Amino acid sequence: MLKDFFMALSENQILNGAAKKYGLKMGAQHVVAGTNIEETIESIKKLNAMGISCTVDNLGEFVFEKEEALAAKAQIIAVIEAIEEHQVDAHISLKPSQLGLDIDYDFALNNLKEIVQTAHKYNTFINIDMESTKHLQPSFDILDELSKDYDNVGTVIQAYFYRAVEDIQKYKNFRLRIVKGAYKEPVEYAYQTKEEIDKNYIELIEWHLLNGKFTSIATHDHNVINHIKQFIKDNNIPYDKFEFQMLYGFRTEMQQQLAKEGYNFCTYVPFGQDWYGYFMRRLAERPANMNLVVKQVFNK
Ligand code: FAD
Repeated sequence: MLKDFFMALSENQILNGAAKKYGLKMGAQHVVAGTNIEETIESIKKLNAMGISCTVDNLGEFVFEKEEALAAKAQIIAVIEAIEEHQVDAHISLKPSQLGLDIDYDFALNNLKEIVQTAHKYNTFINIDMESTKHLQPSFDILDELSKDYDNVGTVIQAYFYRAVEDIQKYKNFRLRIVKGAYKEPVEYAYQTKEEIDKNYIELIEWHLLNGKFTSIATHDHNVINHIKQFIKDNNIPYDKFEFQMLYGFRTEMQQQLAKEGYNFCTYVPFGQDWYGYFMRRLAERPANMNLVVKQVFNK
């Protein structure tokens, strides 16, 4: 119930628009690294100093105007240039919908091409994040197009989708982030129970560790992490073939501990004013994150 409530809030465009006018509120500042590039670079430097690399996400959803998509493209290119200027250990995560996928496929593709081309110049990796079902196939199509000319792109496999097994096989030669999946998807496309999703999740990670190029294991689930650590040991998977990933502000001690244990660790660093949808999805995933909100309200 609570999950559905927060998921519905995350999709509310009026609240989303209103939130942009205010700074980071309701505890969002604990899970969003900053509202601008300067603050974000400072956060990245702190994580890098702990041996943690970063993937940077310029937050933004519900983009239905070309101007907004072009502004997002310019901002992402500015981040790539800031990464180069400051020589920080970071790459980019981006969402095709923010770059115009809901407006026009070719327009979005061209925006992505420009970003990937700039990033290629600096040897920076671009991860195409995966969104809800309607964006899934077009996002893979964009990846297919981009990978004809560039090798610095990869994407995400969402384990709740039945088709994930075929997708992971098709894209095994890409750097892939494997996640459980963050959106509410219908039963015709996706597993619904935690048991089914967790089972598929572990199978996909194991398969890609054995057969794929590079695997980003993106989860806060200690059971999955412990299982995979053992699997890596049993199968002698080289440490340079995978990394663990978690979101900025979540299980921070575990993030640092994994890095200390010698695993490659990458923190997903979201920034920007468009924090609302991202923050609501995190509350939907784990209502215990409401603590962040409650603490914020009472610590005024
Ligand atoms: P869950 O299934 O949410 O949690 C499992 C268990 O782990 C919980 O029961 C609890 O015991 C423990 N746990 C979880 N969180 C915490 C916490 N904060 N503190 C203490 N214990 C905790 N989804 C997409 O659809 N597309 C993407 O492109 C995408 N990119 C992502 C990138 C990264 C780096 C990460 C980490 C996630 C991404 N996701 C993405 C979200 C993902 O799909 C899941 O929705 C999200 O990670 C929640 O699932 P989980 O695997 O972390 O564990």
